[in-house]
Amino acid sequence: MILRIDIVTLFPEYVEGYLNTALLKRARKQGLLKYKVHNLRAFTTDRYRTVDDYPFGGGPGMVLKPEPIYRAVRYIHHCTGNAGRVLIMSPQGRIFTQEIAQCLAEASHMIMVCGRYQGIDERVIDLCRAEEISIGNYVLSGGELPALVIAEAVIRLVPGVLGDEDSRKIDSFQAGILGFPQYTRPRDYQGKLVPEVLVSGHQARIDQWRNEQALIKTRVYRPDLIQDTIVKHPLE
Ligand code: SAM
Repeated sequence: MILRIDIVTLFPEYVEGYLNTALLKRARKQGLLKYKVHNLRAFTTDRYRTVDDYPFGGGPGMVLKPEPIYRAVRYIHHCTGNAGRVLIMSPQGRIFTQEIAQCLAEASHMIMVCGRYQGIDERVIDLCRAEEISIGNYVLSGGELPALVIAEAVIRLVPGVLGDEDSRKIDSFQAGILGFPQYTRPRDYQGKLVPEVLVSGHQARIDQWRNEQALIKTRVYRPDLIQDTIVKHPLE
């Protein structure tokens, strides 16, 4: 399966640089990812290429106008001949999770719209049948980083993208809890020793220890994950 990602932004150079690096670059070279970055200004029709305007009702800042965004999404749908899922980056949206990443990885196309200034004219959400999506309870200056965060989380779930397919199974959130603590050489670093069990060579004991540690860490840092989850151990 090839995942197609279209990103609509006022700052194509911000996202292109990252999309051309590391995992995302590799996924594209492997033919598992296709992406296109669209400059929102290309979808304006006035000579000043205006993308923003004052908010109705007054108040500080500017708002991204609906017409260029709507035109950009229509254009992408037209070019790709499908109804790719439209995601608007917004702190007011549904919080992005590993579960949503998994759903998106199973789809074939997503269109991500990056906001700026005070955000996007609300009517675009309905008109583009879009979903607002947030990467957390804080406010950034633009949707470019959120779009890249989502793109990377999704693409690493596409089969074939990771060198070792098993590595994602032990990632945090895959089993509903945090991952287990990891150690590498040296065995003694500044007097701090690697837990004995990890060098015992006894795989069943190692798995049990890792499961216990993952649960302990989750209870301490993310008790919310345990509350309503029937925990499935990652190593079972
Ligand atoms: N006035 C808006 C509000 O209070 O909801 C915030 C606008 S923010 C300064 C500008 C843009 O950054 C947003 O339109 C959105 O695209 C992006 N953005 C900021 N924080 C974000 C977050 N936590 N998740 C996703 N996108 C975010």
